[in-house]
Amino acid sequence: MTQVSRVAKDIFHLQVPSEKLTSIFTVYLVQDGGGALIEPGPAANIPGILEGFNQIGFDPSCLEYIVPTHIHMDHAGACGPLAQQFPQAKVVIHPDGKRHMIDPSRLIASTKMAFGDDFEDAYGPILPIPEAQMVVPEDGEALRLGGRELKMVYSPGHASHHLSLYDSKTGALFCGESLGVPPPGTQAPLPHAAPPGFDIETYLATMEKQRALKPSMLLYSHGHIGKDPDSLITAAKQNTLDFADIVLSGLKAEEGEEQIGRRARELMKRVSGIVDERIMLNMTVAGFLFYYRKRGLA
Ligand SMILES: [Zn+2]
Repeated sequence: MTQVSRVAKDIFHLQVPSEKLTSIFTVYLVQDGGGALIEPGPAANIPGILEGFNQIGFDPSCLEYIVPTHIHMDHAGACGPLAQQFPQAKVVIHPDGKRHMIDPSRLIASTKMAFGDDFEDAYGPILPIPEAQMVVPEDGEALRLGGRELKMVYSPGHASHHLSLYDSKTGALFCGESLGVPPPGTQAPLPHAAPPGFDIETYLATMEKQRALKPSMLLYSHGHIGKDPDSLITAAKQNTLDFADIVLSGLKAEEGEEQIGRRARELMKRVSGIVDERIMLNMTVAGFLFYYRKRGLA
């Protein structure tokens, strides 16, 4: 059953059951105006999302916006089926992601590389979205939603098509994976990367860009709420630099991915106190490796 909690004025956190999946998914509803569903996750989340709406007493037939922070399947897979089911809703997408949502063939191919050829069995399908149902905001553009504005903040690094949302009413920042991902129950954000789009320098610059917004809280996509954004951003930066060090020194010492992964797990244990496989460290190691190899550093 979906666990619903209210985290700020009009903002609900829906923890959708995901036993069959390799990660945990946090979905948000801003219940103002027609409502905005932020970070719907994979298509497999849809029954849990609708069940959460029911608990809140929210009617999705007036849903105004669906906003994934980026187009990776584990954040945006539900957009296609939801757009079909709720044709009045607009899907808000970074310009770099637009063509892959209209024609998802390349997105499906890269999802198979990351999650396996049979990803649909657990995560559900990726469906195209009609261009007319999409909104492609500029950096800094504000979407009006009832009595508030959601400011779209381009936040590349994890992927070029990543955007965060800053809520004018509460100061909350829906940061997706752009400020790291804390293992569940911890305040230790670790970098989250995936090949081929990860870029370390851009990721670090995006962290400072978002610190300057002075958010009141961070609403992460895999897990929970961060109450002290400034120190969390500092920790995310440091952990990213330490992670980069592990991967780069491993490459120079000709360590295999397994050995580098083991040292990445040691870092997770040291900074967060736990090792949680749902943080998908292997994918992050692969993202960093791809980045360094692409730049010819190893
Ligand atoms: Zn992603």
